Amino acid sequence: MRGRERAWIELSAAALEHNVRVLQSLLPPDCALMPAVKANAYGHGAALVAKKLQRLGIRQFCVASAEEGAALRRARLRGEILVLGYTHPEQFSLLRRCRLTQTVVDLEYARRLNAFGKKLPVHLKIDTGMHRLGERADHSAKIREIFAQENLTVTGIYTHLCADESRSAEDMNSTRAQADSFFALVRELEEAGFCCGRAHLLASYGLLNYPELGGSLARTGIALYGVLSRREDLAQCPVELQPVLSLKARVAQVKELYRGEAAGYGHAYVAEGDRRIAVLTIGYADGLPRELSCGRGSVLINGRTAPIAGRICMDQTIVDVTGIPGVRAGNTAVIIGKDHELEQTAYDLAEACGTITNELLSRLGQRLTRLMI
Ligand SMILES: *Cc1c(COP(=O)(O)O)cnc(C)c1O
Repeated sequence: MRGRERAWIELSAAALEHNVRVLQSLLPPDCALMPAVKANAYGHGAALVAKKLQRLGIRQFCVASAEEGAALRRARLRGEILVLGYTHPEQFSLLRRCRLTQTVVDLEYARRLNAFGKKLPVHLKIDTGMHRLGERADHSAKIREIFAQENLTVTGIYTHLCADESRSAEDMNSTRAQADSFFALVRELEEAGFCCGRAHLLASYGLLNYPELGGSLARTGIALYGVLSRREDLAQCPVELQPVLSLKARVAQVKELYRGEAAGYGHAYVAEGDRRIAVLTIGYADGLPRELSCGRGSVLINGRTAPIAGRICMDQTIVDVTGIPGVRAGNTAVIIGKDHELEQTAYDLAEACGTITNELLSRLGQRLTRLMI
């Protein structure tokens, strides 16, 4: 199988299982993992990842859109699928047909969804300070009216923390304030006779840094894939996570580039002496960021580092393999992952292009083959 792929992702089933188990070990009492498999499971491949998680006993998932949820149902995923983001009224039928749980972000949206006229389970999103989606926690009357919509069954209520990656005094205060206002609202609603279902607020960093905040679901994304957003956050990570994803591409051709000749678009790479170059079958359309052009990034081949030569193209990338013995067409280049003694991580690439691993990984393209090994 691996012999004929053009450019591909290898997922380690063992690493994914390891991450599930160590994250479960951090869960507060009566709290379950609800993995975020949105954005094609952060580029990893949503169906492949979710089905594996299902075999590991996971029963709840969250996605960004109804379309993503529908795709998982087509892949025969069971369990609850929570749509975290906006669903257009024309897609309300998809919610019902695919048994998705929609997030309700305010009273106006609740009324629209109610007017669809079919019974639907929903989770209520409460804005406790991030000021992205959600009804403001101090809009108690509006929130109560959401409960009164006869076609909506509130099976959960949640909020999202916006500074949980740090435990600095300031961020700890604001995080605690978010949690306090959330749980005060839930308590008030329950005391008034409204059943909120499951209350949840932790994502990856919340679970790692603030497990004491509790809740009944932890919506973990990035940590489940075995990486954090930034390398420096590893210092305070309470568990050892294992990266799930490796990214590899085939060498299509190896050739000489003589002194003074240029390679690629715009003559961006000029050979200062006689060089050997290799052409890889992966480009920016596959999610290899073009910012890594001209030596800002490199790949691993035969246990050595080969810098990217010139500009990354849409479908191909040229690397300098001068001095690396035995490179020939059909060889494998490792872009993320281990090769002999060397390893290149998602952190290395994300840092080289000034972003976080979440963005780098979630942009890995549809054209890549995804294999679970
Ligand atoms: C994406 C997302 C998550 C998962 O976040 P990670 O930091 O990757 O764990 C959780 N909750 C919401 C609302 C999200 O949008």
